[in-house]
Amino acid sequence: MAALSAPHGGALTDQVLSAEDSSAFLKEEQNYIKIPVDFDTTLEVENITTGVLSPLKGFMTKSDFLSVIKRDRLADDTPWTIPILFHLPEKYVRYIAAGDAVLLEYQGDVIGRLHVEEIYTIDAGETAQAVFGTTERAHPGVNQLLSKSETVAGGKVELVKKTISVQSEFMLPPQETRKIFEQKGWRTIAGFQTRNVIHRAHEYLQRVALEYVDGLFLQPIIGWKKTGDFDPDIVIEAYTIMVRDFYPQERVFLSGLPTAMRYAGPKEAVFHAIIRKNYGCTHFIVGRDHAGVGGYYGKYDAHKIFDRFENLGIVPLRFCGPFYCSKCESTATEKTCGHSEKDRLEISGTLIREILNNHSKPSEHIFRPEIYKFLLEKAKTQNLYNQ
Ligand SMILES: [Zn+2]
Repeated sequence: MAALSAPHGGALTDQVLSAEDSSAFLKEEQNYIKIPVDFDTTLEVENITTGVLSPLKGFMTKSDFLSVIKRDRLADDTPWTIPILFHLPEKYVRYIAAGDAVLLEYQGDVIGRLHVEEIYTIDAGETAQAVFGTTERAHPGVNQLLSKSETVAGGKVELVKKTISVQSEFMLPPQETRKIFEQKGWRTIAGFQTRNVIHRAHEYLQRVALEYVDGLFLQPIIGWKKTGDFDPDIVIEAYTIMVRDFYPQERVFLSGLPTAMRYAGPKEAVFHAIIRKNYGCTHFIVGRDHAGVGGYYGKYDAHKIFDRFENLGIVPLRFCGPFYCSKCESTATEKTCGHSEKDRLEISGTLIREILNNHSKPSEHIFRPEIYKFLLEKAKTQNLYNQ
């Protein structure tokens, strides 16, 4: 059987408590302080404990955090670009000390146990500058960070109750996707990150990757996204149609990625690649302005950053464009089309949202009619976007 590449740091983290262990200590839950957490923190607890964020075993302690924002590496030198923090609500700070174990509660259910090793303060402005390259509140990732407590708790975390993603067939953890890829006999797998419904430009990138690797792992993001981005269920449904009706099903696998968007551009591209490495991918597609927002990052900053991460253990597929060229009469990129800007139609998430909002019939070079029809039908009964 084909051996997949190793997870980041060598081994998948597995800190999901067994049913017996969970029920044993839940009997004593009254002895613990409980801290309510939001949806995205719940996802992060799941991601740490099920290996999505391997080699992390908990929320970052100060040495890892400072190392990440200063040099894009964990304290032990493993490449890492996005801080994973547990923001401690101010009202709990005086009740909790290093050495305590606390329970994390989502919507009334205990979901995790955090072993607090350290409580420390971060400088949110300095962190924003390091991760996002800006401290402007207009940047959605910066705004999220600045709205949270600057007191954070670092330490190992365990998953108590299987909550959101682990239950869903559309959000399999790395242990499961790795099994599936092995069963399929795939040796090279390209991961594709998206927060948009599929359009022709993304389809082009996916097909180019499919020409090269054994399997394509489509993984739309499920988790916090900014207002105006597509509803994750809509993205998944549109991809389900694409995989069912167009792609060779035995060469494509679809499952969601349960984490929040940060819009950190290049740093998030590396983070997304590391995550896909843990899911079993050998390659990761990095397109134009990956995980970017507004005009904060250069078109191909997310390509260049990988030059600083040799031996990452996953190969970035640095793809340009694409656009539709009326002279080539096909989707193309700067690398395959010799014509000028005026012959080219840029296909972007922004353009497809405009088309949908205006109900204008799009060219088949932008949208597959089947996908467009599905979206128009959906729009009659629900909002396609995050509110
Ligand atoms: Zn052309």
